[in-house]
Amino acid sequence: MTERTLSGIGVTPLSGVGTVVWYRPDADLPEPPAPEDVDAEAELARFEDARAAAEDELEAERERTAERVGEEEAAVFDAHVQFLNDPQITDGVTDAIEGGLPAEHAVQETFSEFVEQFENMGGRMGERADDLRDVRDRLVRVLSDGERVDLSSLPEGSVVVAERLTPSDTAQLDPERVAGFVTVTGGRTSHAAIFARSLALPAIVGVGEELQSVEDGTEVVVDGESGDLVVEPSDERKEAAAAAADVDVRRESVETADGVEIEVAANIGTLADLGPAVDRGADGVGLFRTEFLFLDRESPPDEDEQYEAYVEALESFDGGRVVVRTLDIGGDKPVPYLDLPDEENPFLGERGIRRSLGPDADLFETQVRALLRAAASADGANLSVMLPLVSTVEELRAGRERFESVADDLDAEGVANELPEFGIMVETPAAAFMADRFAPHVDFFSIGTNDLAQYVMAAERGNERVSELGDYRQPAVLRAIDATVSAAEGEDCWVGMCGEMAGDPDLTELLVGLGLDELSMSAVTVPQVKAAVAETDTADARALAERVLQADTKAEVAEILTLEL
Ligand code: PEP
Ligand code: MG
Repeated sequence: MTERTLSGIGVTPLSGVGTVVWYRPDADLPEPPAPEDVDAEAELARFEDARAAAEDELEAERERTAERVGEEEAAVFDAHVQFLNDPQITDGVTDAIEGGLPAEHAVQETFSEFVEQFENMGGRMGERADDLRDVRDRLVRVLSDGERVDLSSLPEGSVVVAERLTPSDTAQLDPERVAGFVTVTGGRTSHAAIFARSLALPAIVGVGEELQSVEDGTEVVVDGESGDLVVEPSDERKEAAAAAADVDVRRESVETADGVEIEVAANIGTLADLGPAVDRGADGVGLFRTEFLFLDRESPPDEDEQYEAYVEALESFDGGRVVVRTLDIGGDKPVPYLDLPDEENPFLGERGIRRSLGPDADLFETQVRALLRAAASADGANLSVMLPLVSTVEELRAGRERFESVADDLDAEGVANELPEFGIMVETPAAAFMADRFAPHVDFFSIGTNDLAQYVMAAERGNERVSELGDYRQPAVLRAIDATVSAAEGEDCWVGMCGEMAGDPDLTELLVGLGLDELSMSAVTVPQVKAAVAETDTADARALAERVLQADTKAEVAEILTLEL
């Protein structure tokens, strides 16, 4: 056995050792044999078996989803079972088999015809096409691969290898059992990469077609730092990877070398991210992206479901602050049941607070009720809320008024509630320019550098062609951060940061020097950032920040910080 290395883009600075499990949800079918070579009776029996197996799988998934996420979300699997047993569709498959096709080809052909019909209907019916596709792919998988790879119950030490992983695929991965994942396609900012960071999984994306040569059952080392996938690794390599996986997690809060406490928190999307956040020593949650509670489902979570989610986050952190961001829908975060407008520039359109004060006012009200109730729960004193994508003082005022008027409604109903600490995200140039006008009205700012960099630099986040430009190390972005922190000085307003920049340990000293009080990031880098804070001296950090703010170019910033670009 000789070791060989494939290269991709490492997306989490973690290493893992494990055994390859290929996940091929959309395996292409080979050419069908000639009709006279097909034993229709045997194929009909295979189809019936596959249908029964698919139904069992769906029942199990339904149950698991109801337990982990909620009844409403689990309902989608009922719709899938209905499709599986729809007589029009099953008759179509039977006819196709009797016409000489093997079962998997008959399923593929018949279901695809129905998918097309649904798509042509558009609107709500059109959305059902995705469910049909899902059922079709499940049946084809059962028929062609024998057993389907169930991502949520893989054997311990599995390294999932796939062409691509969707957000729902990634969300199913159990960080306790999975040693990492590797994909053929994808970039650093793909959803799979963001999920990998919040689940603290070693991961490499964008390896390319060469990855197909790595077979099921092969032992590999996933080095999410360098992007190297080592196939059939030597014992030394495995030991080194295992040692690297052993990070020093600090559970206690952290101070700089000269005794200034800096809060180091985690960003979460779903409740599944809470475990890794606690495990990696986060002090609390600095950004709960609540829109993730609304994605991948058929209808929005109701008030009680949201209340329970917020309380669960609060309970996970013994006294640690949990900053919940109200819905940030729009931009690159579509929600199928919301009928979002078709905009030419969704990032510059109806997004975040704009929707909450406009077309999503009802959803917003439900969320505000859940938040006000959660703030009055046993752990609720540590709840903070913030509004996304604020660009005017009117939006802040209107958002705040919603909280106050809903609190009055709850009082009138006799429902326990509390107004939580209140802040805004600073992620538009308008908010950074006007920070001095916002500061007196809020308890805190949280700087969202992912959007701030895209809007300051006019470089769309996630667009690889302009990623150099949209880099948070650009002097203009650093000035916007500095302006925001300076505007809050002397006001009763703490300043945090929850964009990806906050999780870059190479920049921790600079961020402390710029005056940030809190840093919140994907769970994975919490230990590294805590270690970097502990090594920082605030006077040195301030001097460093002053030098960096004098730089004309990103290259100069990097030179001062001794970073490689
Ligand atoms: C940001 O814009 O930096 C941020 C943290 O929000 P999101 O990435 O969810 O847009
Ligand atoms: Mg943002």
